[in-house]
Amino acid sequence: MKFDFLIVGSGFYGSVLAERISNILQKKVLVIDKRPHIGGNCFSDFCKETEIEYHKYGTHIFHTSNKKVMDYLSPFMKLNNYRHQVLTKHKNQVYQMPINLETINSFFKKNFSPLEAKEFIKKISEKENIFEAKNFEEKAISIIGRKLYSAFIKNYTLKQWGVNPKKLPASTFNRLPVRFNYNEDYFNHCNWQGIPENGYTEIFKKLLSSKKIKILLNCDFFKNFEIFKPKYATIYTGPIDKFFNYKFGRLGWRSLKFKHLVKNTPDYQGTAVMNYADLNYKYTRIHEPIHLHPERKINSESSLIIEEYPVINNNEPYYPINDIQSKLALKKYKDLSKKISNVFFWRSTSRLCLL
Ligand SMILES: Cc1cc2nc3c(=O)[nH]c(=O)nc-3n(C[C@H](O)[C@H](O)[C@H](O)COP(=O)(O)OP(=O)(O)OC[C@H]3O[C@@H](n4cnc5c(N)ncnc54)[C@H](O)[C@@H]3O)c2cc1C
Repeated sequence: MKFDFLIVGSGFYGSVLAERISNILQKKVLVIDKRPHIGGNCFSDFCKETEIEYHKYGTHIFHTSNKKVMDYLSPFMKLNNYRHQVLTKHKNQVYQMPINLETINSFFKKNFSPLEAKEFIKKISEKENIFEAKNFEEKAISIIGRKLYSAFIKNYTLKQWGVNPKKLPASTFNRLPVRFNYNEDYFNHCNWQGIPENGYTEIFKKLLSSKKIKILLNCDFFKNFEIFKPKYATIYTGPIDKFFNYKFGRLGWRSLKFKHLVKNTPDYQGTAVMNYADLNYKYTRIHEPIHLHPERKINSESSLIIEEYPVINNNEPYYPINDIQSKLALKKYKDLSKKISNVFFWRSTSRLCLL
C-alpha cells in the first residue's frame, strides 16, 4: 500500500491524527511505533495472574472540561464513574492530598473550621518572614508553613524530581492546590473524569481501525530513517531533542521504573494511588489498579500492586523537567522545527488532559 502520511508514535496524539486523516481526509496513513504496542503512555494491559487491567506507564485518569473533546471521543469510549482521590502516607499515617481541611486538622490534631484553618496557616507561614520567595521551598513555606511543607512536599519533591526543592523555580508550587474545605476530589475543576470502561487500549484499537491505516510496531523511526524520510509527509510525536540528534543538548526528563507485585489479598491499600511522602520508601507511589474500575466485579483473591520509582533515563521520557536550561533548549528546537518542511512536530511538555 502507498501512504500519504507517516505518523511516528501511536499515543493519543498520533492515533487521533491518524483517525482524522484517514476518515476525514480519506488519506492513507502509516503509523509506526518503536514499542511493541499501540497507545503510547496510555497503554493498558492485563495482569496474567490476577486478570486485573493496569496502566503500564503509570495510572492515567481521563479528565477534561472541553466538550469538543468529549464529543469527539464518545464513539470510541465510555467513561466509568471513577473519581480520582490521592492519599499520602507520612510516618505511617494516611492523609488526604491535595492539602485540604481534613489534612490540616488530622496533621495538627485540631478541629478547625475553614476560616480558623486559614487564619492558623496564615499565622504560621507569616512567622517565616518570607516576603519574596526565591525558590520552590520558600514559596511552599510562605504559603503552607514549614511543618506541612516538611511532612508532605519536601521529600516527595526530592524523590520525584531528584532535585533539592531549593533549586526548583518558585512558580512550580503554584500548581499545587491548597484547600480550606473538605474537598478531596483531585480533578474537581473538570466536567468529565473517569477511566474508559473498556480500558485505554480499546480506544486506540478503535481510533486506528480504518482500512486506510497500517500500523508497524517495534519500528524505530531513526533506525529506519533512510526508508521513511524522503517519502512521506511526516508527523513526529517523539522527543524533539532526539529528532535533532541533541544539537542543542538534551532536554531534561524524569523517567519512571515500575515494580509489579501480586499481593495475597483482594484489596491491599483501599485506593488506586497512595503517595509515599517519606524518604525511607524509595518509591513515590503505589498503584492498585483494581480500584480504577469499581464497575467491574472482579472476584480475585489477590491484587496487583505497582510500585513507582523515579529514575533518570532520557530514552524513556515521562515527565519534563522544566528547568531554565531545558526551556531555552526547547525554544531553540521549536524554532528549528519550523524551518523543516514536510515534518510536523509534537512533544507534550505538560499534562494535556489527553488531548
Ligand atoms: C506517569 C504518568 C502519568 C500520567 N497521568 C496522566 C493522567 O492521569 N491524566 C492525563 O491527562 N495525562 C496524564 N499523563 C500525560 C499523558 O501520558 C500524555 O499527555 C499523553 O500520553 C501524551 O500522548 P502523546 O501521544 O503525545 O505521547 P505518548 O503517549 O508518549 O506517545 C508517543 C509515542 O511515540 C513513540 N515514539 C517515540 N519515539 C519514537 C521513534 N523514534 N520511533 C517510533 N516511535 C516512537 C513512543 O513509543 C510512544 O508510543 C501522564 C503521564 C505520565 C508519564
